[in-house]
Amino acid sequence: MSKVPPIILNNGIEMPQLGFGVWQVPDDEAEQAVATALEAGYRSIDTAAAYENEAGTGKAIAGSGVAREELFVTTKLWNTEHGRDSALRAFDASLAKLGLDYVDLYLIHWPVPAKDAYIDTYKAFEEILADGRAKAIGVSNFLPEHLERLIDATSVVPAVNQIELHPHLQQHASREFHAQQGITTEAWSPLGQGKGLLEVPAIVAIAQKHGRTPAQIVLRWHIQLGNVVIPKSVTPSRIKENIDVFGFALDPEDMAAISALNEDRRLGPDPAQMA
Ligand code: NAD
Repeated sequence: MSKVPPIILNNGIEMPQLGFGVWQVPDDEAEQAVATALEAGYRSIDTAAAYENEAGTGKAIAGSGVAREELFVTTKLWNTEHGRDSALRAFDASLAKLGLDYVDLYLIHWPVPAKDAYIDTYKAFEEILADGRAKAIGVSNFLPEHLERLIDATSVVPAVNQIELHPHLQQHASREFHAQQGITTEAWSPLGQGKGLLEVPAIVAIAQKHGRTPAQIVLRWHIQLGNVVIPKSVTPSRIKENIDVFGFALDPEDMAAISALNEDRRLGPDPAQMA
């Protein structure tokens, strides 16, 4: 079984560098998918209130026999819940659905700049952190301008910014800003949602060279850059394949060939516009 190395977050908490994402997994399938991932050795699970599968995720955790302290559970506050009081209520609801008394990481899902409420929301997150009900707090889909404003107005630098990141959208400005601020970069849709990216000839050629799959090559590229990744699959063979990326290394020329694929092309929404 693969052992996933940890990243040390800016508050000293350890987060596995590779976890299991459950976006678009229906609640009644999440229990099985998460159970398969936990059996395969994943210890980090990425869910969100908006995925409507916190309950199924929680059932898999409860039934897994894995000690709570060995797990790293992330969930996120949805866009309709911005503001201090609604954030505190949303957090309680997420914990109840998960059946947990704390999460490892609580994220603001999107900044929703049009609402101009993410600073109040984050102040509620600081209260949750102080209570010990989240071991770390952070954000998702924040642009550097949002982070700058947040850091100026609050006292806890986000531990993580979870952003869309894959070889077609390499996010150089965000990654550089995060590194300067001590924020860990977590890649969502690390495989580019499996659409097209895994057939790119340069990636297929590197896969053949190493006797690995294109998905493993892309995940390994992220790992060697220092990104946290949370690939999603409901197919048991792919769930196992996606965590088996710690027994080989890409050569500098492989890294360079993948880094040359950047097109600054988003699959998901623009964080400045998402409401
Ligand atoms: P992904 O890049 O992980 O791709 C998943 C898809 O790739 C699968 O549905 C499957 O079609 C394919 N795939 C997976 N493993 C494969 C393999 N080994 N071989 C071939 N194809 C394979 O995309 P994602 O689900 O969008 O992102 C991963 C996770 O990131 C999500 O589940 C969620 O937890 C998180 N996420 C967060 C946000 C956010 O706004 N914060 C947005 C999207 C996703």
